[in-house]
Amino acid sequence: MIVWLEEVDKDDVTIVGGKGANLGELIRLGVPVPEGFVVDANTFKKFVEDTGLKERIKEILSNVDVNDTRELEEASRKIREMIEETPMPKYVEEEIKKYYRELCKDCYVAIRSSATAEDLPSASFAGQQETYLNVRGEDEVVDKVKKCWSSLYTPRAIFYRVQHGFKHEDVSIAVVVQKMVNSEKSGVMFTSHPTTGEKIAIIEAVFGLGEAIVSGAVTPDHYEYDRINRKIVKIDVAQKKFMLTRRDGKTVKIDLGEEGKNRVLSDEEIERLVEFGEIIEEHYGNPQDVEWAIENGKIYIVQSRPVTTIREIERMEVEGEIIVKGLGASPGIGVGSVKVVLSSEEIGKVKDGDVLVTIMTTPDMVPAMRKVSAIVTDEGGLTCHAAIVSRELGIPAVVGTGNATKILRDGMMVTVDGEKGFVYRGELKERKVEERVVSLAPQIVTATEVKVNISIPDVAEKVARETNADGVGLFRIEHMVLGLKKHPMKYIKDGEVEVYIEELYKGMKKVVEAFYPKPVWIRTLDAPTDEFRHMEGGGDEPIESNPMLGFRGIRRDLKEVEHFRAEMRAIKRLIDEGYTNVGIMLPLVSRVDEVLKAKRIAEEEGIPIGKIDFGIMIETPASALIIEDIIRECGITFVSFGTNDLTQYTLAVDRNNENVAYLYDESHPAVLRLIENVINVCRKYNVKTSICGQAGSDPKFAETLVRLGIDSISANPDAVHRIREVVARIEKRMILEKVREI
Ligand code: PEP
Ligand code: MG
Repeated sequence: MIVWLEEVDKDDVTIVGGKGANLGELIRLGVPVPEGFVVDANTFKKFVEDTGLKERIKEILSNVDVNDTRELEEASRKIREMIEETPMPKYVEEEIKKYYRELCKDCYVAIRSSATAEDLPSASFAGQQETYLNVRGEDEVVDKVKKCWSSLYTPRAIFYRVQHGFKHEDVSIAVVVQKMVNSEKSGVMFTSHPTTGEKIAIIEAVFGLGEAIVSGAVTPDHYEYDRINRKIVKIDVAQKKFMLTRRDGKTVKIDLGEEGKNRVLSDEEIERLVEFGEIIEEHYGNPQDVEWAIENGKIYIVQSRPVTTIREIERMEVEGEIIVKGLGASPGIGVGSVKVVLSSEEIGKVKDGDVLVTIMTTPDMVPAMRKVSAIVTDEGGLTCHAAIVSRELGIPAVVGTGNATKILRDGMMVTVDGEKGFVYRGELKERKVEERVVSLAPQIVTATEVKVNISIPDVAEKVARETNADGVGLFRIEHMVLGLKKHPMKYIKDGEVEVYIEELYKGMKKVVEAFYPKPVWIRTLDAPTDEFRHMEGGGDEPIESNPMLGFRGIRRDLKEVEHFRAEMRAIKRLIDEGYTNVGIMLPLVSRVDEVLKAKRIAEEEGIPIGKIDFGIMIETPASALIIEDIIRECGITFVSFGTNDLTQYTLAVDRNNENVAYLYDESHPAVLRLIENVINVCRKYNVKTSICGQAGSDPKFAETLVRLGIDSISANPDAVHRIREVVARIEKRMILEKVREI
């Protein structure tokens, strides 16, 4: 069935999909949205039934092994071709054409798939809702509707449904056909002030199409309207260098010259926009982020989403006497009384709100680290234990000061700036220097997945909730293992391997459950000898002159194979319980045979390798240079750049050695070239690429990676929102660059 947008509302979501239902709601409120109609989900169902496609699709899908990428892609291609090439039943085709004719005479329309409630998860997992802009002519419209239908069977969508036990027969798809607005003006509006929640509407506006604003390519005019006193309170007119417009179905750029200095919106237009914004805000019960456009003097609301904004004080500053300097490792300002802890036995003296000062934190300090207001260490860099844990706990930290335990004394009041890396004398007042708004809902959808790194299982649930990350790109189990009563090999020697497996299983389960069904890549133990020596039973750890180049990572697990088997057994228990979102990631790989051996042992322990993600970290130049051999011979499904190690091994700069810290540079061309090479090879073989090193939390580095075509970025919990914003912006800019090329 086909229905006009004004005939539907939110109760129809199962047949007209989320997009269709939303637009229908807005029209009912008297808000002008571009006219259009919806080809509902039943139409697609009827199409596949009447043409006999239903059975054929079912048959193809019943034989496909979704873990075999080639098979999956082949099945997807076949089905999509069938859908696109099979003529619609005449009456459906005529009906679509009739609605199009009634909508407009040969005008340009936008055609978009609208996922129905049942298929929302796989549609958002597939990361794509098909959209065709600038479609004109009856036959073209019919053709694009079919293309939207066929997007129900992208490889990712099929994969998702199989993984989660959804029946392909149950899902369907609706298609929204809407008149294109070729706007002379457009922009966005927050119906209330996004930071303070005050009833001040904020409008940004440009000439031409709105893509120019969204991509950040043009500085828009900025207006503010006081909704209580009913008046415009701010008008900032920007110099708008160019505008985008549509000509013959193509987006073109027009330089504005002097005209770019003109004000975009008149007072009346601002008032009208605010009125619509207020209607929408009232209806939904919370402030809205609205996209609007004006064509031939008429206002259209193109999109509206709720903004639940939190006030995130992005940068606070203090001024005063700096007594200790180090690296800012976890942002924020913390004030408190100093407690110097020289060994973990003294940790008991730390009270709520203190500033913990120590040489380097250890896992048994984690309970105390949770309650302090800031952490300061003598040693360490941005990837040390204190840095990782404090970021995960959201506590300001300064590391690598060299002398904090000598200069700071118990009971001194200090103020710690975890961004700048300074410790000030006394209790100082913070001054706000910049405020940033993070919108919690709805989530920005990015094609590049943004995941999170986890090392403390107890915070996984909170991190999952607060970041809404697309999964865990690195679950470091070292911190959990270091927190156990004794050294892993001691458990094994004492005949208590089951106790150890149980501990691993319990910790892993917390993370895997918190993120289910999103993927969690569990990294097998990477235990440098120096870090594990202080554990009970750690006395047998070999003394190495350079532990970073020593007995750690997968090479160690393949020597201490009983340990590796224990890890596999813990993971197997999770898989047996249905947690198929686990993936296994091997650290510090440098040889093909390491991956082969690890894989063989995993299989011997009953891990269904073909059914879960199985991949490696790229942390050595060796692995980056032989990646093609590894892929061909070992059949991995993903790689993840461990730039912390990759940088140290490429540049010969020990990541823990402060004497050479000035040479440590993840953006060194040699490191970037290795990364680029690996991404290119992986794309050729359909192997997913990701990053989980510290560089993934750096917005600039993230930009480089998105441009290189990485599939996901795994950041520290505190960086996920920012990285997601950066990724979204870069992706949009890349689209715009493509448009400009045309
Ligand atoms: C890395 O090397 O970049 C990494 C993520 O692993 P780790 O920091 O635990 O060595
Ligand atoms: Mg590493």
